[in-house]
Amino acid sequence: MSDEKRAARLQHLRAEGLAKGDPLALPLTMASMFNLPGNPEPGVAGYGRMDNPVWDAVEEALALIEDAPVRVFPSGMAAISAALFAVLKAGDRILVPSDGYYTTRLLADRYFAKLGVEVVERPTVAFSEGGYDGFALVFLETPSNPGLDVIDLAGACAAIRAAGGVSVVDNTTMTPFGQRPLDLGADLVVASDTKAPGGHSDVLMGHVATRDAALLDEVTQWRKLSGAIPGPFEAWLLHRSLETLEVRFDRMCANAQVIAERLADHPAVGQVRFPGFAGDPAHAVAAKQMTRFGFLIGLTLKDEAAAEAFINGCAMLAPTTSFGGTHSTAERRARWGDDVAPGFVRLSVGIEPVDPLWQALDTALSAL
Ligand SMILES: *Cc1c(COP(=O)(O)O)cnc(C)c1O
Repeated sequence: MSDEKRAARLQHLRAEGLAKGDPLALPLTMASMFNLPGNPEPGVAGYGRMDNPVWDAVEEALALIEDAPVRVFPSGMAAISAALFAVLKAGDRILVPSDGYYTTRLLADRYFAKLGVEVVERPTVAFSEGGYDGFALVFLETPSNPGLDVIDLAGACAAIRAAGGVSVVDNTTMTPFGQRPLDLGADLVVASDTKAPGGHSDVLMGHVATRDAALLDEVTQWRKLSGAIPGPFEAWLLHRSLETLEVRFDRMCANAQVIAERLADHPAVGQVRFPGFAGDPAHAVAAKQMTRFGFLIGLTLKDEAAAEAFINGCAMLAPTTSFGGTHSTAERRARWGDDVAPGFVRLSVGIEPVDPLWQALDTALSAL
């Protein structure tokens, strides 16, 4: 099924299962207990740590766009934790990107290392060199956050599988409407739905998707036994947001292409990283495996002061640490210790009509 067909069907997914008189919109079910006389039965809700009809609905929607079974989690990190706990045991080695989302590295270093898992780091650009022997799990993030380097997913996932490891791809920056890691051979996809899928800066959620039944079972058991479950209202908010994900993502990516080109021509801006540029080091692989080039742009201004003045002086930029909202946001990543220039700004382009957005950016840049 094409992305377009999936996006179209998503608008009607709930209606497919409705009886006469049912509400068209998903009811919010706040429940810890369900009516459960006699013996428990598969498929019958029993207790709120295992079952909730809102989770079922949001998982069905995500499963349609991932084309794979999905389990939802209360944040992207809860989804990443579930993927790691589902696979790893003492004595295993894992490979993680040294320049990807930093909390994944912290989790591995602080908790998995003391359980006897050896954690090896490598920069994203070096993943193309192979060398996956001896790794039980390889964690890939592409485009990487915040540097926007990319990894050839089909090549890496095949090499990881041939070496006997499990590949986990963090697809947060692209969503399934921009990149489909499972179709490129990944075993597990993890994502922070706090970003574009939620999209309105009001909810944290995450999910794991996999076509491997044994891995799916481990992830499901992990959620049940660890108790890392999403609240029904958060799941409901994500379900509602998914109805507009494709149209928001489309506008954000189209805006980003225009904004990136104009930024590159602006005298106040140094280097611009955007996988959609023909000359970007990531472009060839990005064009091969991504259906869109995303809505994140990395731009380098003169120094920390210039970056702060731009972010805080622009009427159409919210200074935030997260991304993927309807409104454009920006942040100076060096403030978290990322290995980037002091004036490096990660810009998350929103759904604002592009010309007023550019005018606001241009005004702030020209004032530096
Ligand atoms: C934000 C983010 C996460 C973590 O997601 P939370 O919802 O904040 O837990 C993981 N990976 C990437 C690439 C992210 O950007």
